[in-house]
Amino acid sequence: MVNDFLRTKKIMIVEDDVSSRLYLNKILEKTGASLLSACDGKEAIEIARANPDIDIILMDIQLPRIDGYGAAKVIRELRKDVIIIAQTAYSLLGDREKIISSGFDDYIVKPIFPQQLIEKLGKYSLEI
Ligand SMILES: [Mg+2]
Repeated sequence: MVNDFLRTKKIMIVEDDVSSRLYLNKILEKTGASLLSACDGKEAIEIARANPDIDIILMDIQLPRIDGYGAAKVIRELRKDVIIIAQTAYSLLGDREKIISSGFDDYIVKPIFPQQLIEKLGKYSLEI
């Protein structure tokens, strides 16, 4: 359903698994947000450079070429204000400190459920 906060936002989905990427796209397109997607960390950095108006990035951690940690670090240097949320596998949860120190604002554990994702993003409605 269209979401008052998200419908004016630009969100980039970074995910190498095609079905997961389409799944996230499907959830978020219903909110009215404009969406971009990247298949790996290097592409995510390029898209972030070319689109300085991105508001939120949903970043997978295990990615080809440059992983989510590396991509978040570079993007954080380019953009102090963008919200970067890690999508983590349960097995990576122990890396919470690494996630936060890499420049992420927050994380969400896979599998990602639609309502949980919308609520997570809604937390930032007062910040951006
Ligand atoms: Mg992955």
